[in-house]
Amino acid sequence: MIDLSPEEFRQLGYQAIDMISERLAAMQDAPVRQPVPPELRDQLMHQPLPETGINPAALLEQVDELVLSYPMGNSSPRFFAWVNSSPAPIAILGELLAASLNASVAGGDQSAFYVEHGVLNWMKAIFGFPGDSGGILTSGGSMANLIPLAVMRFVKTQGTVRAQGFYGESAPMVIYTSTQGHSCIQKAMELLGFGSEYLRKIPTDAEFRMDMDKLKAQIAADRAAGLRPVCIAASAGTVNTGAIDPLDEIADLCAQEDLWFHVDGAYGGFGILAEQTGGLYQGIERADSIAVDPHKWLYIPVECGCALVKNAQAMRDTFSLVPPYLRDDRALPWFSEFGPQQTRGFKALKLWLTMQHIGIEGYRELITHDVAMAQALQERIGAREDFELVAAGALSVTCFRYTPPGAADIEALNRQLLPTVQSEGRVFLTGTELDDQFVLRACIVNFRTRESDLDILLDTIAEAGQRALAATPDIPASQR
Ligand SMILES: *Cc1c(COP(=O)(O)O)cnc(C)c1O
Repeated sequence: MIDLSPEEFRQLGYQAIDMISERLAAMQDAPVRQPVPPELRDQLMHQPLPETGINPAALLEQVDELVLSYPMGNSSPRFFAWVNSSPAPIAILGELLAASLNASVAGGDQSAFYVEHGVLNWMKAIFGFPGDSGGILTSGGSMANLIPLAVMRFVKTQGTVRAQGFYGESAPMVIYTSTQGHSCIQKAMELLGFGSEYLRKIPTDAEFRMDMDKLKAQIAADRAAGLRPVCIAASAGTVNTGAIDPLDEIADLCAQEDLWFHVDGAYGGFGILAEQTGGLYQGIERADSIAVDPHKWLYIPVECGCALVKNAQAMRDTFSLVPPYLRDDRALPWFSEFGPQQTRGFKALKLWLTMQHIGIEGYRELITHDVAMAQALQERIGAREDFELVAAGALSVTCFRYTPPGAADIEALNRQLLPTVQSEGRVFLTGTELDDQFVLRACIVNFRTRESDLDILLDTIAEAGQRALAATPDIPASQR
């Protein structure tokens, strides 16, 4: 029986909500994560095709035991890896409520369609975009970068790309990002047919921001070589260090050089709300397009990205397959005319609920808190003899190393201690490479993180490091 009686549905719903609530209540003290036992991996991957139905209450119990018990860990206050935030609890309910409508938000006269327009208008307001800009919610930052770059391609080919591809173009088009730009920009270049050879990764300055002199020199060299520069894809918060490219200067350069100005703010965009960093975003309002990820710093459950494109007409012309003579100008155009998807989920409800629950004032405090936590971590690292700060951008990423006095090979030591720390589950962080050097990286997009969690982070790393040193016989104990 697919249908459930209202009473059965209510009972199962209570059961599910109880499961979630208990885990939320235990979050502060629970381990961040535990590795998935090998038998369970096999069990989950190779479960037989269910021939007959199973009692739903028993199934929910299985979900609790087999699925909810083995998360990545990003709801924990001691999760510092990648850019994965905890979901706002109200947004969890938003997912549930949206699923109950099962709205396809391609378009049409339905509440979900207007709610998405509502949240897009809030996004435009945050970034200083005019109300008549185009916008769409996406699966995440990768799509939120791809869609505007597709619009850029349409505009820079005068629209001919839709029918003719690049065959009518006389010169290859070139796009600029920094060496710290996200890999999704390159993916977009490849998917859109520009070719990654024509993506220039401009070196960065000492703060890992795009070097403007090198950018200008590269544009000039490309023009001299007969190529056609078309776009700068700037970062408003790199994943490695949280660096924000000089957006205002890039806006000037784009205006002078007739380039499309795109900003990837998937991680850092909402840092515009933080007290410490708001000023660094000057010029973002001059962008032609922006990609942001509410599923990162707005604490919305995955998936939820957002693309904004100032020229809504160009955005529609890039994707619409409704011939203009059939377009109904009395109604709002459908979202399916502004992106590649036809049937699309009701992502807007979780955002609509959460943004109203927290309010922009609340978000300012939360994001300011995260930046303050990162600064507190940097201060702790600076005050300890056994740690070294390698890089700290303006946002909430800290790159550092464990450097106990006397340790011979710091690089090897840090590479060695990280998997130990990860498998223990007291804290979780990842590493990255900066200037060919391996570093530990802690990113705080987490409303649960407190200063005491920072101490646990550093102590846990130091303990794992000491054990690694003890296991390495060629370093005498007296030198550790
Ligand atoms: C996360 C991220 C992306 C990719 O976004 P997804 O949501 O993972 O698809 C792109 N750029 C930056 C700067 C990011 O932080």
